[in-house]
Amino acid sequence: MEKTHLEIIVVGAGPAGVTCSSLLQRSGKECLLIDKAEFPRNKVCGGGLTPKAHILLSRIYPTLKYDYYKVNSIYTYFNRKYICNFSLDTEIRTVVRQDFDHLLLKEYKQLGGLFLTDKLLKVEEKDKKVVVVLKSGRVLSCNYLIGADGANSIVRKCLQPGFSSGQVWMEKTSIDKSQDKMIVHFDKRIPEGYSYVFPNTRGHIVGYGEKHSGHEKFGQLLKEQGLEGSEKTKGAYIPMFDKLDYPFRESIILIGDAGGYADSMTGEGLYYALRSGENAALAILSGQDFKVQNSDIITLINKRRRMARLFYWYPINKLFMYMCTRPFLFSRINKRVNKELTPKCE
Ligand SMILES: Cc1cc2nc3c(=O)[nH]c(=O)nc-3n(C[C@H](O)[C@H](O)[C@H](O)COP(=O)(O)OP(=O)(O)OC[C@H]3O[C@@H](n4cnc5c(N)ncnc54)[C@H](O)[C@@H]3O)c2cc1C
Repeated sequence: MEKTHLEIIVVGAGPAGVTCSSLLQRSGKECLLIDKAEFPRNKVCGGGLTPKAHILLSRIYPTLKYDYYKVNSIYTYFNRKYICNFSLDTEIRTVVRQDFDHLLLKEYKQLGGLFLTDKLLKVEEKDKKVVVVLKSGRVLSCNYLIGADGANSIVRKCLQPGFSSGQVWMEKTSIDKSQDKMIVHFDKRIPEGYSYVFPNTRGHIVGYGEKHSGHEKFGQLLKEQGLEGSEKTKGAYIPMFDKLDYPFRESIILIGDAGGYADSMTGEGLYYALRSGENAALAILSGQDFKVQNSDIITLINKRRRMARLFYWYPINKLFMYMCTRPFLFSRINKRVNKELTPKCE
């Protein structure tokens, strides 16, 4: 790559960065997408696409064909006791992130999009331009820098040094296909989090996360559920309970996990990665302020954070679980859960 100045540089080729870059590329905007990893790369993630996420995905990528596992119900436990089985009007789809992210990147490249494997080290602002310093020694400048570099974002560190990356969540990936149900365990011992089993096309993933996740606790939970395995435990941050308290700038935009867009109730981030990626592209294309373009997502993230504080407060959590054991109340709650998982309009 010869050029040293580009109109737009997007750092991070996860779902947020690729979506933003693809939409810009489709509209004929010059853009360079940079990622430190060689694809296909591993990404610690349950890979759950809620109905609102896969409906949005189909709108943004109408011809995309991807492998997924269909989940039509969620088995829910509280303090190790079975509580209820939420039945879903529209399925949750689980994907293997390594394949899914690679597929999205290939779509972008097929559009003719520029891609560079390199690691962002530093961001500076000089003469009304944003300058990025890469590990290879390359120094590039741009008019817009999109930070899509995940929960430990270097771009965000430039805007907000010392920000908190959120909660650590841990996972083990197994090729055992006998675990074919989506299971969620809430537990007094897991404050502000839960443990889960997500089946997928290759086997299943078991995971857990909370306010202060620990290996020992994860091991103990797996043992109780008979899910210990020899697989390696991997961990990554989810920006849950993030207050989005960084400065919003015109020339530096944060999207996906880098922007703190994850649901504090569930840890869902894929829907928000796609939506904030789309909104960043639309903001640049229309000359609109990103904060305004992305306001529905910001409002939703803030609302979900307030709801999560309440939901994970133990007396409320316990009351909710009790309500789920009462058939009449459960049918109303199940309806509500379906409403939350499905968009009003996409
Ligand atoms: C254990 C766990 C389970 C999860 N389960 C779910 C789930 O089931 N459903 C759901 O919706 N969400 C889930 N999430 C959240 C979801 O994974 C994220 O919200 C989503 O990946 C965010 O996408 P993104 O594009 O913003 O970032 P990422 O997917 O993290 O992509 C960031 C990219 O930036 C690159 N990068 C990072 N730093 C640099 C750098 N300095 N220079 C260049 N490139 C860089 C990385 O290589 C990476 O490719 C889970 C997260 C965890 C940790």
